[in-house]
Formats: sequence, structure tokens, C-alpha cells
Amino acid sequence: MNAINHAATALAIHRRWPGVPIWPVLVSVQIVEVLWVALNLLGVERTEVGPAFASMRDVHLVHMPYSHSLVTTALLAWAVWWVFAKRLGRPQWGVALAVGVFSHTVLDLLVHAPDMAIAPGITSPKLGTGLYDAPMVALVVETLYGVWCWRRFQGSKALLAVILAFNVGALSFYSPDIPGPETLIAGHPMLFAGFIGAHIAMGWFAIWYFARTSWQSAPLQTTQPREQP
Ligand SMILES: [Zn+2]
Repeated sequence: MNAINHAATALAIHRRWPGVPIWPVLVSVQIVEVLWVALNLLGVERTEVGPAFASMRDVHLVHMPYSHSLVTTALLAWAVWWVFAKRLGRPQWGVALAVGVFSHTVLDLLVHAPDMAIAPGITSPKLGTGLYDAPMVALVVETLYGVWCWRRFQGSKALLAVILAFNVGALSFYSPDIPGPETLIAGHPMLFAGFIGAHIAMGWFAIWYFARTSWQSAPLQTTQPREQP
């Protein structure tokens, strides 16, 4: 899923758990992807990018059992909950950030080709709806999801515009008929991983910049129960 829509998940999480600051939530919704970038650059996980890169259909996430399996991400979410809720005495943070971590896997399952393992070592079946086989439909679904997150957050028009702009900006990656920067990445999976890393950072900063004021002044913040020290 497009980085901006993963990052937008932080907006929806904020409405449910408004006491958690923006950056921890933003990091939680993309930590799985950050791991994917790092593990690809280290050669632990592997991606194949076709010699012709016309759309996301030409990207094959052939081996990512650590960053994107159901079991590892559930364990990571649990570990995050445990650290924040049990060790640091911040139960609201624990739940919000665990939901953030696991949201990434759920959202990827909704669009990916069947390329997500249940757990490391289990090579079949692999999970994913295969919506990326119809990339333009996937882009519309993703964009609607980003807009839904924005509505939940009751964000500014500028925030909506930036979510839409990032999705429209990714059009060439979703349409095989529209050329774009992906042609430069064809055949270079490491470059693709680096590009995704940069995209994660851009999505984070875009959402942070345009949501930060509303985040601080969210009215729900005062209605939440106080956290136990
Ligand atoms: Zn992902």
C-alpha cells in the first residue's frame, strides 16, 4: 500500500487513542515497512523488479517472511504493547501503537498479491487478496481509505489535499500506461527498496506537517481516562 495511506492510518488511530503523540503513532504504522527496507538492503529479504517496470504488477515481493508475515507482525505488535503498557506504564500508548503496527499487515493483505507468509518457514499458502492485479482499482480503494482516515481525524483541507496529491502522484506506479520514475528503477530491487524508504519518510513528514496542529488540539484528548503511572 502507498506510504501516504499507511501514514494516514495514524489519523484514524488518533481519534480512538488521542493521548498518544503523533510521531510514535506514525512510526508504528510504518515500522513493518521500515523493517522491509532494512532487510532488503541487507539482503535478508528479497524483491524482484522486472526488467520492464510499468506498474506495481512488475514488482514481486518474493521473500519477506520476517517483515511481513502474520506471525512476526503479530509478535512485534504484542512486544510493542508489552513494552509500553507493562514496562513503561502507558496502556493507551501500548494499545494504540500495537494497533498501528498490525494495521500495516492488515492493509497490505487487502491489496497485495498473495506474497505474505503466515510465518517464517511456512512457504504456502501465502496471503493477499491480489487486488494489485488490477492496480488502478487498488489505487482507488487505497485513496478512498486515505480519505476515510482523514474524515475520521476531521483534518484540514490541506491535509486532504496532500493525501490526494500523494495518491495521484503515485499514478504511474499503478497504471502500466503512464510512464514515470519507476522506469529508472526497473531491474534494480535495491534501488526500489531505497525508493520505498524515501517514500515512507515523505509520507511521515507530509502527514505530520499537515496534521500536527489538529493533533495537539484534538478535543477528544480531554475525555480519555488518565493513564496510571
Ligand atoms: Zn508493507
